[in-house]
Amino acid sequence: MNSFVIADPGLCIGCHTCEVACVSAHSADNMFLQQEENPDFYPRLRVMETEQVTAPVQCRQCEDAPCANVCPNGSITNLGSSISINQDTCIGCKTCMLVCPFGAIAMVPEFRGGQKQLQPGLRSNATGVLARKERLVASKCDLCEESGSGPACVQICPTHALQLVVPDDVSMDTAAKRAASAQTLQQFGGLIRF
Ligand code: SF4
Ligand code: SF4
Repeated sequence: MNSFVIADPGLCIGCHTCEVACVSAHSADNMFLQQEENPDFYPRLRVMETEQVTAPVQCRQCEDAPCANVCPNGSITNLGSSISINQDTCIGCKTCMLVCPFGAIAMVPEFRGGQKQLQPGLRSNATGVLARKERLVASKCDLCEESGSGPACVQICPTHALQLVVPDDVSMDTAAKRAASAQTLQQFGGLIRF
């Protein structure tokens, strides 16, 4: 079973620190020294604010991942305990974004060495002059799998609103619920025998 990060809207104060930690964890460059006109700020979780709640939303690392099932390029795979997108082979078709039930996938410009990457073939005439078009790729939470130290958002949140749920946690929680159900059924034991 894959792990996943989940937020408690009752604790989230909407400070967006988790988004900053996410960008920092996935960027080889110092985010505070980026070009102002061309910032690489694309967090893989997004803090949503409504009148009732504030909470970040991110990938749930689905077991039968809809995004992986529809990717025409085989660019989405199970890596460690998360679902991973290979941005090198992603062609930006957006199919994964459309099928994700949580809205957890975004199309973002690809950056390397602080530079936006351009497409080798397709040109755009948006400015009246034919010019190379930026390359957009799919992006989503990967549990900071490559860092080896766990999700940065969970570690940084000042109110501990985020939690990494691992398979053992789920198994223990399920076992506790089953035990509680058994206790409840005991009250109706006579009825069941009847
Ligand atoms: S860092 Fe924590 S409190 Fe701040 S927006 Fe993210 S989840 Fe909410
Ligand atoms: S956008 Fe990229 S990762 Fe998503 S389905 Fe298309 S090729 Fe696959």
